[in-house]
Amino acid sequence: MAEDPHVITVADHLARILSVIEPLAPLELGLMDAHGCVLTEDVVAGAPLPGFDNSSQDGYAVRRDDLLGASPSSPVVLPVTGDVAAGPASPLRVQPGVCVRIMTGAMMPAGADAVVPVEWTDGGVASVSITRTPDLGAYVRRSGEDVAADETVLTAGTYLGAVQIGLAAAVGRSRLLVRPRPRVVVVSTGSELVEAGQPLMPGRIADSNSPALTAAAIEAGAIAYRVGIVPDDPRTLASTLEDQLVRADVLVTSGGVSVGAYDVVKEVLSRIGTVQFDKVAMQPGMPQGFGTIGPDATPVFGLPGNPVSALVSFEAFVRPALRKMLGASPLERPRVRAVTTAALSSPLGKRSFLRVSLSIDQGTYVVTPVSGAGSHLLAGMSRATALAIVPEDVERVEAGAPLEVLVLERRGR
Ligand code: AMP
Ligand code: MG
Repeated sequence: MAEDPHVITVADHLARILSVIEPLAPLELGLMDAHGCVLTEDVVAGAPLPGFDNSSQDGYAVRRDDLLGASPSSPVVLPVTGDVAAGPASPLRVQPGVCVRIMTGAMMPAGADAVVPVEWTDGGVASVSITRTPDLGAYVRRSGEDVAADETVLTAGTYLGAVQIGLAAAVGRSRLLVRPRPRVVVVSTGSELVEAGQPLMPGRIADSNSPALTAAAIEAGAIAYRVGIVPDDPRTLASTLEDQLVRADVLVTSGGVSVGAYDVVKEVLSRIGTVQFDKVAMQPGMPQGFGTIGPDATPVFGLPGNPVSALVSFEAFVRPALRKMLGASPLERPRVRAVTTAALSSPLGKRSFLRVSLSIDQGTYVVTPVSGAGSHLLAGMSRATALAIVPEDVERVEAGAPLEVLVLERRGR
C-alpha cells in the first residue's frame, strides 16, 4: 500500500486543503451577528467607562467630613435632602451637613465625596442615622477606572465570546468588523437515502450524514445549509451543486467517492472543477475529494459516505478549514496525551482515529475504546468523547501505553 503513488498522508492532505483555503474577507456585522466571530479591527473606547462617577451601593451620598467620629454608640444624624436613582442626572447638590439617598449606578451628586451603604444606617428617608465613617471616595465607582477614553479595549484577532460582545456594547459599538462565519452547504448523495422520518422501503436507509455534517459545521462556527439528499444521478448532482454555489463559501458532500459504479460525486466533481480524489492513508475515511468549483473557486469537500468516515473526515479536514476561514486559532481541537485502558490496533501505514471515551483518573487522562472500528458504527461513535490517534508507523498500542487524543467534547460525567 505504501507503494501506491495515489495514497497520501493525512498531514499532506490537510496541508493541501489549508494551502487553498483563505480566511474570509472582513465584513461589518451587527453586534449579535458578530458573536462567535474573530475581530479584524481594534475597538477603541470613545469615552471612559464608567462614564461618570457613580455609586456602587444603595445608600447615602455624603460629605465624609460630616461623619468623622460616627460609631454605633454615637451615630451621626444627617437630614436627607432628596433621592438620586440610576437614570437621568440629578440637579441635587450635597451641601455641608446634609446627605442624599442614592441608588446603585446613580450619578454622584455634586458636593458628595463618599457613599455610606444603607447597611451602616437606619435607612431613614427624612433624616438618617449613620454609625460609621466612610473612607474618602468609598463606594464610588470612578469615571474611567475600567476603561480610559481612547483606550483600545479589544484588539484585532480577538475571538468574540459573550464577554467581548458585552464590552463592545459597553463602549457603544453596535457594529463590528469581523471575519464572517463561512456558509457551508451540505449535500448527501445516494439513491438509497431517505429523509429521516419518512417511511423506509426495503434497501433504503435514513440520511444521517446531512444532519450530522450540518450540525458539525455549526459546531465549528459556520452557518450551515442542509440541502439534504441528491440521488446518484450525475445531472441532478451537477445542477444541485451549481445552484447552491451562490450561497456557499464551502460545499460538503458525502458519499459517492469510492470506486463503485454509481459513485457520482467523483464523476461530477472531476468534471466541473479542480477537485482531486485521493486515497488518504487513514482509518476510517480513506477516499477523500477536495478542490474548487465554480466561478469563485468555491472549495468543495467530497467526504466518504459511511457515517463515521464522514464525521471523522470532517474533524480531520473540514473543521480546520472552517476555522481557518473564520480566522480562528488553533485550527485543531485540543490534543492531550492519554493512557489507554485497553490495547488498540491499527493498520500499518494508516493513521487511525479510534473512538474512545476520555476521563481523568488521578490527574492522568485515560481513554477507553467505546466502539469497534467499522465505519458504519454510528451508535458507537455517539459514545465517544475523543478520537485516539494511532500514527502511521504504529500497529499496536498496549494497554497502559500513552497516545495522543483529540478532545471532541467534555461531558460532565
Ligand atoms: P458511498 O461512499 O456512497 O459508497 O457510501 C458508503 C456507505 O455509506 C454506504 O453503505 C452508504 O449507504 C452509506 N451512506 C452514504 N451516504 C449516507 C448518508 N447520507 N447517511 C447514511 N449513510 C450513508
Ligand atoms: Mg453512495
